Amino acid sequence: MILLANYEGRSGVEYAAKLLARGENGLRAIVEGIKIVESNLDIHTVGMSSWPNILGQLQLDAAVMDGNTRRTGAVGALRNYKHPVEVAYRVMTDIDHEILVGDGAERFAHEIGAVTAVNETNSSLTAWRKHLENVLTAEQKQLFPNIRLLDIKSQAVDPEKLFDTTVYLSIDHEARISTATSTSGWAWKYPGRLGDSPIIGAGSYADSRYGACACTHTGEMSIRAGTARSVVLYLKMGLSVSDAVYESARDLADLKTGYLDEVTIHAVDKDGNYKVIGLNSSETIRYVVWTPSMSAPQVCEAEIINL
Ligand code: ASP
Repeated sequence: MILLANYEGRSGVEYAAKLLARGENGLRAIVEGIKIVESNLDIHTVGMSSWPNILGQLQLDAAVMDGNTRRTGAVGALRNYKHPVEVAYRVMTDIDHEILVGDGAERFAHEIGAVTAVNETNSSLTAWRKHLENVLTAEQKQLFPNIRLLDIKSQAVDPEKLFDTTVYLSIDHEARISTATSTSGWAWKYPGRLGDSPIIGAGSYADSRYGACACTHTGEMSIRAGTARSVVLYLKMGLSVSDAVYESARDLADLKTGYLDEVTIHAVDKDGNYKVIGLNSSETIRYVVWTPSMSAPQVCEAEIINL
């Protein structure tokens, strides 16, 4: 058994580890862990009180994958629900689709009785207003929101790097390998933008025969390289978990156009070996790992690779 989560997800790790230790289904355990992160008002990149899109609206993304069945569930640009990861789980269990976005996702969430919430808080709206104050011209301020959002000067590059996601990977007592993700995506993103977190194969992938992978940071890159799926495919082809991750990092580093920045790759193989790397990361990247032999989850530092 193992639980691996990124540092942003640390508040839910202890509970998810407890559920795994007592024999809970691994996917349910990590969904419950992520729900704690989604409710954590101090985390501004997952769930409630996150940094909103450029219009001041929180549009949340989440995904789950059961590596036994390879069923997935994902939601994109979901508004006004407290636990996108639970809605994603219910997409997997309650409907013969794998991903729902926008109005359709909200209708589905309503039909299954998901918990509603106003996710925009004073602190997220204050940060958003401050951002607008800095980036809009006097004329844009007067007309906002009836302006060409494309013309806002900082829309593509966020100097404060206000983005992160939470990702969890687990192997449970029955060797089921699972992944789950939840995010508000980039701060100040263009409305409707989806990153890699709700895109299975890009931001996460699990296959109980080989292993699992989940990514954070620049979703625009992991979507293009199909990073999470590629790591699991490299495992299938016989690479060690470290080599699988390095190979996927090389695929990412080969991208030369478009928006390029850091990507963090988290991976486990079916034997519980794990590897986390920060590709071109400018800061220390931490993650959390728990196995039954540990008295408590441990915080570790990822290897930084510059390619
Ligand atoms: N990968 C997420 C996205 O692109 C953001 C992040 O992890 O920082 O939406």
